[in-house]
Amino acid sequence: MTICYIALGSNLNQPLQQLNAAKQAINNLAETKLLACSSIYQSQALTLDNEPQNDYLNAVLEIETELAAEPLLDALLKIETEQGRSRQKRWGARTLDLDILLYGDQCIQTKRLTVPHIELENRKFVLLPLFQIAQNISIPGERTLKELLSAISDQKIVKVSEFNG
Ligand code: ATP
Ligand code: CA
Ligand code: CA
Repeated sequence: MTICYIALGSNLNQPLQQLNAAKQAINNLAETKLLACSSIYQSQALTLDNEPQNDYLNAVLEIETELAAEPLLDALLKIETEQGRSRQKRWGARTLDLDILLYGDQCIQTKRLTVPHIELENRKFVLLPLFQIAQNISIPGERTLKELLSAISDQKIVKVSEFNG
């Protein structure tokens, strides 16, 4: 069994419903148990152009799984597809994004997977919900979440509700 943290994000087609459906789908994955979930947070979209985008809803789940990292990635990509994810441009609006933040204490670097997630330390919308449910974990490289959060530049993010769906 490996403890693993998954980031959820949505800014299209009723984001709250997208997150609720994704949580259920992850809870229903084979050999996987949902252990904890953060609140739901709202943050401004990251964009690579000047096209306006809706704000995102974000959350983080803690799971325990027997799935190896790549099969877990495949399962998450399948859930994204089932919830209408399409990839047009990088960092474009999406119904659902599921990223593996941490997979146990492993560092993974394959063609398809980089763990810890490569942008983890730069994104408050990921660090804050992660910190809410896993205050004392250390990140490979022996940094604490507190250290990462205090080093981060100012980014607007607000807690909007509990994640009860
Ligand atoms: P970002 O990675 O900056 O958050 P994104 O989530 O929008 O951007 P996607 O289009 O969802 O990027 O994913 C592109 C690919 O990233 C996936 O097909 C997957 O193979 C790869 N990938 C690498 N590391 C991870 C990870 N830790 N979690 C999820 N996908 C990953
Ligand atoms: Ca992402
Ligand atoms: Ca992704």
